[in-house]
Amino acid sequence: MTTKCRKCSTPAIIYQPYSGLHLCKKHFFEDVERKAKLTMRQRYPVKKNDVIAVGFSGGKDSSVSLLLMHKIFGNRPDIRIVAITIDEGIDGYRNYSIERTREMTERLGIEHIVRSFKDEYGKTMDELVVEKKMVENRYSDDKKEVGPCSYCGVLRKKILNKVAREIGATKLVIGHNLDDEAQTIMLNHFRGDVERMVRFSAANELDGFIIRVKPLRKIPEKEIALYAYLNDLPMELTACPHSFGALRKEVRRLLNNFEVNHPGTKYSLVRGYDTMVPLISQALDVSVMKNCQICGEPCNDDVCQACKMLEKKAIE
Ligand code: SF4
Ligand code: ZN
Repeated sequence: MTTKCRKCSTPAIIYQPYSGLHLCKKHFFEDVERKAKLTMRQRYPVKKNDVIAVGFSGGKDSSVSLLLMHKIFGNRPDIRIVAITIDEGIDGYRNYSIERTREMTERLGIEHIVRSFKDEYGKTMDELVVEKKMVENRYSDDKKEVGPCSYCGVLRKKILNKVAREIGATKLVIGHNLDDEAQTIMLNHFRGDVERMVRFSAANELDGFIIRVKPLRKIPEKEIALYAYLNDLPMELTACPHSFGALRKEVRRLLNNFEVNHPGTKYSLVRGYDTMVPLISQALDVSVMKNCQICGEPCNDDVCQACKMLEKKAIE
């Protein structure tokens, strides 16, 4: 017997253990879109003449973010939406997704900017992995060794923020889903990194930093994947060859097990974090911004993370 949608009599396509609801395709779409709209309204209200930059890698999360921004704000003449794709230079992986990002932005009629690590830093991610001996160091005993995803994340975020600022963006959308949020919160707890925990929230405006907006932060990863699939959106079909963030994978496994046994755990974690951060922020001021002495980009130290990672010197 087919299970019916809780809201109508059509066959259900998904069961949400945390809400106890079976939903058909129409009501599943409505649910995803409602959650994204609610997050935007409550946490990142859009103002007249906002310029919304969307970090668009061509993976499921960023594709869904872009489509939702287009659906929610696309018919507002005062709002400009710009997709920004960063080409990290990962052979056999990113080149495929860049093609798909071009197709999707053309189809939706959305402005699209592509910038690369090579243009910005003179090196591709593939070259950096070799230069910094990331694969060899993966097996070293020095636990402080930084893996490819840390490099990639820091370098990508820097270009995204820079391009967003250049085009006058007032918001920068990133595709973090509920699973990503819950994992990052747990990771920061495990590392005891309270400052980063507060910074990660950053729903406030900081000099030179464009507000990072996460419309998917209350939507589970599985639902994003299904929504992307049913809308025929770009998704990662191949795995990045440099992905080996062991700690995050462990946390992901742990949270997924918890979620199976105790549905709603990821939501609770994010909800608790949202309540906690304003309280901690009162005691810990992370709003002081400096400018990197090397590249001039905003950061919270004398030299930004990207310049440290690339070992740039003040005078080259
Ligand atoms: Fe970059 Fe890691 Fe993502 Fe690969 S998996 S694109 S290295 S962040
Ligand atoms: Zn710098």
